[in-house]
Amino acid sequence: MNDKRLAKARRRLLDEIQAEARDTETWTGRGAFSDPVMAALDRVPREAFVRDNDVVSAYVNRPQSIGFGQTISQPFMVALMTELLDLGRADRVLEIGTGSGYQTAVLAEVAGRVFSVETVADLASAASRRFRDLGYDTVEVLNRDGFAGWSEKAPFDAIMVTAAPERIPQTLVDQLKPGGRMVIPIGRVHEVQFLYLGAKDSDGRFAAHKTLPVAFVPMVGKERNE
Ligand code: SAH
Repeated sequence: MNDKRLAKARRRLLDEIQAEARDTETWTGRGAFSDPVMAALDRVPREAFVRDNDVVSAYVNRPQSIGFGQTISQPFMVALMTELLDLGRADRVLEIGTGSGYQTAVLAEVAGRVFSVETVADLASAASRRFRDLGYDTVEVLNRDGFAGWSEKAPFDAIMVTAAPERIPQTLVDQLKPGGRMVIPIGRVHEVQFLYLGAKDSDGRFAAHKTLPVAFVPMVGKERNE
């Protein structure tokens, strides 16, 4: 695809994302996504994160297979989850489920540092390579079961989980700073999942509420009760 067609495909995708933001406002409370989030989606080369660098399908507003039974999230969902965290340049973010690394790169465009945990070793190393090649030097990747979070780097201003556990893991809540926010899909396998938005108040009390119905791969691993 030549540069002009690529730019057009990208522009169309951004327009679709804003249209979907309007359509889902009753669920999410966000009828329009902010300029920094949209600029991040405009900047990250999605074709570098999909299989075979398939440029034609990279800019379709759909999730896609990345192998290992996993998927790169739908661009709208990446935008929404990033938006809901209200990130700033000084924020330290924990992401669980690196996958292709696309969401991680979008986070890196709007936050300070991003710490991303992936349980599939091959995906973690492929994503690390992409970050190095693309110059995302504020990102660190760890191959580990994300139910443990990343205690060595905690606490975090924001936590994003991109695989669905059955309930919000307490370990992750513990790694969130007072005033911090968390976005996480919750649901049992084969049942409807909902995206939850949570926040910890200045006294350390955590509360989360449902936003819209979603479909993520399950978070596999072992929940810890520490
Ligand atoms: N955000 C990624 C896609 C996520 S798919 C992207 O846009 O490409 C969900 C990812 O979560 C998969 O890569 C899966 O291997 C990973 N995952 C599932 N359970 C996990 C766990 N317990 N800890 C860390 N990663 C996990």
